[in-house]
Amino acid sequence: MAKYKLEYIWLDGYTPLASLRSKTQIKEFASFPKLEELPNWGFDGSSTQQAEGKSSDCVLKPVAVFPDVTRRNGVLVMCEVMMPDGKTPHPSNTRATIPDDPGTWFGFEQEYFFYKDGAPLGFPAGGFPGPQGPYYTGVGYKNVGSVAREIVEKHIDICLDAGINLEGINAEVAKGQWEFQIFGKGSKNAADQMWVARYILARLTEAYGVDIEWQCKPIRGPFNQPLDWNGSGMHSNFSTERMRSEGGKEYFEKLMAAFAKHMDEHIAVYGPDNHLRLTGLHETQSIDKFTYGLADRGASIRIPHSFVNSGYKGYLEDRRPNSAADPYLVAGRILKTIQSVA
Ligand code: ADP
Ligand code: MN
Ligand code: MN
Ligand code: MN
Repeated sequence: MAKYKLEYIWLDGYTPLASLRSKTQIKEFASFPKLEELPNWGFDGSSTQQAEGKSSDCVLKPVAVFPDVTRRNGVLVMCEVMMPDGKTPHPSNTRATIPDDPGTWFGFEQEYFFYKDGAPLGFPAGGFPGPQGPYYTGVGYKNVGSVAREIVEKHIDICLDAGINLEGINAEVAKGQWEFQIFGKGSKNAADQMWVARYILARLTEAYGVDIEWQCKPIRGPFNQPLDWNGSGMHSNFSTERMRSEGGKEYFEKLMAAFAKHMDEHIAVYGPDNHLRLTGLHETQSIDKFTYGLADRGASIRIPHSFVNSGYKGYLEDRRPNSAADPYLVAGRILKTIQSVA
């Protein structure tokens, strides 16, 4: 037997941006615990905007388990929040509400800013660095500073050791802005991995005095100037079994018609403040337009060359979801729209 450190992770009830919360419980197991072996647990929902003070207990129901190599016998336990009966999903529990299908694959590109002392990492105190250009996929101290790469390297290893399908990283267009990509099969699985990868990153940067800014348009200056700094997206690449094996131009056009029809429902779950980011500038489409285009990074949905070259088969990229969006709701909405097409 060994004592395992079980880190129960959940999403709080804050709107429009839920935050990650977690706490540790120590339990003895013969070997690394399986999901079925992990008990439900509780927390004080009155401190997370999930309950009134009088009847404050909420239930944590484990839904996914990952090894945590940063701690001896460490376990990351992603949870759904349930009502006190343990059976009814709490209103903040988005995971419980979405359609799922293991044949639908998602690749999320998570962009974010490192923040230190109230500004993006690498911004000079009270001012702005040189304009965008050299930072995207940049190398060298003047472009990426001295600690960002150390953090993203550690993030890769912790995620891979946890069994998370992190597929890559890159420095992004704005200074202090980076991206990682997560791939998963099924909307719940892919989004679980994304939330845990976000958790790992936010926890990792504590020791550096650095925060992660998930908000999609943190820099709106310089003062009196146009919005000259890129925002952060969570481009969501998706493919269903039918899109990969059968595809076809006719089916593709039906899919796009459904995405156009449900534009408002998509935008509603694609993250707060998205009007600040989806402006038609900085490789985005305007928030009130739906367009798609071949290799078009100014479209709502980008069609990769590979998709057309293989006879309208493969995956598509929805470029509208933002960095703060809830991947459960994003994946669920995409799947719902696809399922509405005969
Ligand atoms: P870019 O920056 O050019 O938009 P990235 O390489 O950052 O592209 O991201 C591409 C994403 O597409 C990755 O997250 C990858 O997992 C995902 N992807 C690749 N093939 C598929 C597929 N068949 N279904 C869903 N997602 C896919
Ligand atoms: Mn990318
Ligand atoms: Mn990117
Ligand atoms: Mn992309």
